[in-house]
Amino acid sequence: MSRRKKIYEGKAKILFEGPEPGTLIQYFKDDTTAFDATKKAILEGKGVVNNQISGFIMQNLNAIGVPTHYIKTMNMREQLVREVEIIPLEVICRNVAAGSISKRLGIEEGTPLPRSIVEFCYKNDALHDPMVAEEHITAFNWASTQEIDDIMALTLRVNDYLFGLFGGVGIKLIDFKIEFGRLYEGDMVRTVIADEISPDSCRLWDMQTNEKLDKDRFRRDLGNVTEAYVEVARRLGILKQAAGGESMH
Ligand code: 5GP
Repeated sequence: MSRRKKIYEGKAKILFEGPEPGTLIQYFKDDTTAFDATKKAILEGKGVVNNQISGFIMQNLNAIGVPTHYIKTMNMREQLVREVEIIPLEVICRNVAAGSISKRLGIEEGTPLPRSIVEFCYKNDALHDPMVAEEHITAFNWASTQEIDDIMALTLRVNDYLFGLFGGVGIKLIDFKIEFGRLYEGDMVRTVIADEISPDSCRLWDMQTNEKLDKDRFRRDLGNVTEAYVEVARRLGILKQAAGGESMH
């Protein structure tokens, strides 16, 4: 591992050169950050659980024809992915008000939204990922009109899939954030889902109790963060045993 070339290190993941051109190894760290990395911790086992959850979701998305960068899971912390050019947007899809929309628009957390709402933020920590309109995205050439159309359609398909997946195991999908990349294949370019889909990037509430099973446990100092992620994985049937501590129930 030490001889591999590191391509990029982010807050929660590292990208290494892959075994073949056009591939990368995505390594999931235990590091957790919030509020533009002003709050940090290492949560033992978090990377292992997120690798499993994200791999499972991406594989299923590929299977239903939603293209992602995911190729296969290599081991406990690593997956093989296609190298893409990241589109500098955080795409947020919301079903229920929580977090920044509650603050911004004064809607009580937990209020169902009249329909799913997709928002775009410019991916820039120094600027605190400001929300932007399609006008900004096309004017500054972050993405084309065609790409925005693809992103909207794919995001809503991911929402439908995730809403059903989590709903089936007693979890309400409040919202999530996804990222997209450009996959170059010869002289063709395709918009695909990149990064990860995990409790780090989704709000997941227990359907019965509204207990939070996501990164808000870290952001809001609720404790048992990894345990909550393990509970999500256990319900999805992808972790037979708790990896980061005892089960929550
Ligand atoms: P909000 O805008 O309410 O803070 O976040 C909406 C959703 O997007 C939440 O599920 C949140 O976890 C996710 N999200 C927003 N920004 C980020 C980010 O920078 N990193 C991660 N991992 N998730 C984010």
